[in-house]
Amino acid sequence: MLNELYQEIIVDHGRKPRNFAVSTQANAILEGFNPLCGDRLTVYITEKNGVVDNITFQGSGCAISMASASLMTEAIKGKTIAQAKELFQLFHQTIMGKKNTATIEQLGKLSVLTGVTEFPSRVKCATLAWHTFMGALNHQQQTVSTENEQ
Ligand code: ZN
Repeated sequence: MLNELYQEIIVDHGRKPRNFAVSTQANAILEGFNPLCGDRLTVYITEKNGVVDNITFQGSGCAISMASASLMTEAIKGKTIAQAKELFQLFHQTIMGKKNTATIEQLGKLSVLTGVTEFPSRVKCATLAWHTFMGALNHQQQTVSTENEQ
């Protein structure tokens, strides 16, 4: 039952991604690419006084990559940069299979993606938006590629 619900949320966000737009106000923009699957997206962040005031994305890819990006924007919009980085760490550790119940609870809706842990090739789909987000925060200019991820 739980898996079905998770599946539904992923399909919903994959088909109708939230915050799916180019942002002209963004002060950090970066492109991410997952060559294994062909997922490609651009993340637009508007950072104001240490807070993620707005975050949007655009791109195309599989349902997992689009749903993950969509859920990410919902999860970190309005959070401080520190909180967003903390959430990235939690999400990343969980999806890499180092999860425990505490982190699942802290992840909220993002936990719907933890099912991909068993499928290493899909892990890159789920983490693409997050690595792109982190790269943008670090003012990286070069396209983020999941090929360089361990
Ligand atoms: Zn993908």
